[in-house]
Amino acid sequence: MPKSVIKTTKKKAGSGQEKILFRAPRGMHDILPEDQPWWNKARKTIDEVADFYNFSRIDTPILEEAAIFEKGLGTTTDIVSKQMYVLRTKGGDRLVLRPEGTTGVIRAYFEHGLSRLSQPLRLYYVGSFFRYERPQAGRYRELHQVGFEMIGGEDDPIYDAQMILVSFRLAEELKIKNLIVQLNSIGCRNCRPVYRRRLQEYYRKMSSGVCKDCRARLNLNPLRLLDCKEENCEKVKSGAPTIINHLCQSCRSHFKAVLEYLDELGLPYTLNAYLVRGLDYYNRTVFEISSENNASFAFGGGGRYDYLGEIIGKRKTPLPAVGSALGMERLIEEMRSRGVNGTLRSRGRVFLVQIGSPAKIKALGLIEKFREANIKALESLGRASFKSQLRIADKEGVDLSLILGQREVFEDSIIIRDMKSGNQETVPIGKMVEEVKRRLK
Ligand SMILES: [Zn+2]
Ligand SMILES: [Zn+2]
Repeated sequence: MPKSVIKTTKKKAGSGQEKILFRAPRGMHDILPEDQPWWNKARKTIDEVADFYNFSRIDTPILEEAAIFEKGLGTTTDIVSKQMYVLRTKGGDRLVLRPEGTTGVIRAYFEHGLSRLSQPLRLYYVGSFFRYERPQAGRYRELHQVGFEMIGGEDDPIYDAQMILVSFRLAEELKIKNLIVQLNSIGCRNCRPVYRRRLQEYYRKMSSGVCKDCRARLNLNPLRLLDCKEENCEKVKSGAPTIINHLCQSCRSHFKAVLEYLDELGLPYTLNAYLVRGLDYYNRTVFEISSENNASFAFGGGGRYDYLGEIIGKRKTPLPAVGSALGMERLIEEMRSRGVNGTLRSRGRVFLVQIGSPAKIKALGLIEKFREANIKALESLGRASFKSQLRIADKEGVDLSLILGQREVFEDSIIIRDMKSGNQETVPIGKMVEEVKRRLK
């Protein structure tokens, strides 16, 4: 094997320095056991919030036909033109590792005739998405998202407000504070073309001051000019015409109503006249949720997408829909940096120490007694030494250890040790669970 592919770990692993032959693909990451408490907490909170607001879970395949994203997101978006993992199957199908969730959900909505259910249909999903982009802090090629969708029914602005509400509440439930919603309306097919022309006129005059990408966007996808983060482009943007001033009457009153509902709900928001979001399928309301301290680092966002159903379905009329998606990596990073504890303290935990082979055999059955009582019993049955088992119990941070030695097996008893005080007490095996429960309270 070539020597160049053998690298050593930068971080010192617990078991010493092992040579590494393979690494996770660039921009993709492992979620290690030590990270899982935060992921579990996030997933559990997602389920609870979704359940409260009456969203049902949907899971769609990780692979979808490439054409569906090209149609749905638009070929001029960065996602479709640069970031998709496209593959050809042996059968010749052109598939894509899904870059986002909404398109697959809408595909499933049509495929299974979900319009027969009560509308708007409220769905949510949690899963992996893939975008081939330059990995950088907080940006991954395999990313996890939670998404909410409300599909069908009317295009009532109250649904836009409810969509913002559920996303906001989720972040709040994860103990992320100082949240702020940035909001804009990007109009409809009647008023947006007028604005798009105004924007093009403005940028044509300024084209020498913008980056190469923006000069290409000018003709292909002028709204995306407002997304550019280049310093010079930001300067040019600050003088650009705003879409708010070009909305038609019905888009204007729709947006006004969204704001009224948000006021009623008491959600903090700011208007951002240049917020457009990256995808073609949005219309009217678009929003992002971030922390007040770092408004450019959004946890997620979304918007209304009434035209997507028409684009990928066979409909002749728009299918009212609004959705949002939040990045799990970003949420979890924020939780951790704010010192949010990942552990779910729903179950008591004990550690079972066994000394000698009769005790080891008996321990197996005792663990089952704890499972029945919904108490988590940890053990290290492969170890013989009393000291080393107690050390693990200490490391696990359990409140109680149960010690079973030869004498206890013989007497049909067990020792309960309080790990904080070090106090020990012998109790009969028959009363073990009851005594543990009393002490765990
Ligand atoms: Zn309009
Ligand atoms: Zn630019």
